[in-house]
Amino acid sequence: LGNLAQSDKEVADILHQELVRQQDGIELIASENIVSLAVLESQGSVLTNKYAEGLPGKRYYGGCVEVDKVETLAIDRLTRIFGAKFANVQPHSGANANMAAFMAMAAPGDTIMGMSLATGGHLTHGAAPNYSGKWFKPVQYGVRAEDGRIDMEEVARLARQHKPKIIIAGGSAYPRVIDFAHFRQIADEVGAYLMVDMAHFAGLVAAGLFPNPVPHAHIVTSTTHKTLRGPRGGVVLTNDEELAKKVNSAVFPGLQGGPLMHVIAAKAVAFGEALQPAFKSYQQSVLANAQALADALKERGFDIVTGGTDCHLALVDLRPKKVTGKVAEAALERAGMTANKNAVPFDPEKPFVTSGIRLGSPAATSRGFGVAEFHDIGRMIDEVLSAHDTASQDAVETRVHEEVKALCRRFPIYKGAYPSA
Ligand code: PLP
Repeated sequence: LGNLAQSDKEVADILHQELVRQQDGIELIASENIVSLAVLESQGSVLTNKYAEGLPGKRYYGGCVEVDKVETLAIDRLTRIFGAKFANVQPHSGANANMAAFMAMAAPGDTIMGMSLATGGHLTHGAAPNYSGKWFKPVQYGVRAEDGRIDMEEVARLARQHKPKIIIAGGSAYPRVIDFAHFRQIADEVGAYLMVDMAHFAGLVAAGLFPNPVPHAHIVTSTTHKTLRGPRGGVVLTNDEELAKKVNSAVFPGLQGGPLMHVIAAKAVAFGEALQPAFKSYQQSVLANAQALADALKERGFDIVTGGTDCHLALVDLRPKKVTGKVAEAALERAGMTANKNAVPFDPEKPFVTSGIRLGSPAATSRGFGVAEFHDIGRMIDEVLSAHDTASQDAVETRVHEEVKALCRRFPIYKGAYPSA
């Protein structure tokens, strides 16, 4: 079997074009990042060949000596990062990690309570089209109209009224610190489990820049590919031994078959990176850069939901600029910047249109952008969106795209790592 370029030119060309897209464009999608070569290398490794159902030392297949070592490393490193007693590193994704947590703590038909998708929660926290909204009875809390912050009074009121089995804190588009202790107090009062989904801000927690939910929650779930800067995947953490056992059997045989051992190796590498001092500096920049971008946009008349950010993302309300999220996403992409349209709280637009965009700093920070570059990004976003539907739209988008490419070439990624890079 030959290598990719020899054996499948079609796929090789697509991979090359994607590499060029990532190299020449500014990635502002808050849930994405740029992994190290070490993470890439481990994920693209011979471990993809290995079946390893079960856990280290207790497998249903032979030949697991080496993968046992790597999974043990991943678990040890992950529990060290977050100060947790137990971890499962096998969930294929964040959605799977959440499913495992639900399976460990509730049964179909039970009530679960999470933040609504419309105000920054995740699909898997009880949204109607998701299994979490179909198989459980979902109750959804939101944010306060006046300041966009989680309405803890509503959380307490709904919890007392509905007595959920699980209360979920954490979301995908919420830019502020979450009061985990208050959530736990409410959960204890109504006899619920507290689950925190730290998928978005896990990297900041690892660096001590965001409150750690592990001491407060019964179960913490996360993805590994966002601020944590690992391969695509999920993890589950807990300090409770009984719940740890339930999580392990929920992941396998409950929900998954063979774990992706190549991904687990890449998780181990990423967790090793997160334990290095350089990771803390990286996360400090992630935070400073997100705040710089939010400030730059605010100065130019954009409305930032909650007035700013405590983390790696900012939610921008575009209504003062008279463009929708859908229009902004497309215009920014033509200018070389990738972001996603996102509903703002109480958004009058449909979910496929929206009044906002969500912007994140993790990926561009990984390539070395600092506060100055993020101020430039704010200016370029304003230039592109202000030119929308004017005679100069095409010229502005072309000029900004050139500026984006020049900026990206000053901060190259994966240079020399591939024959074509
Ligand atoms: N939880 C949160 C808070 C998320 O933001 C996401 C993904 O965006 C997920 C879970 C799901 O992760 P995945 O896409 O890996 O299934």
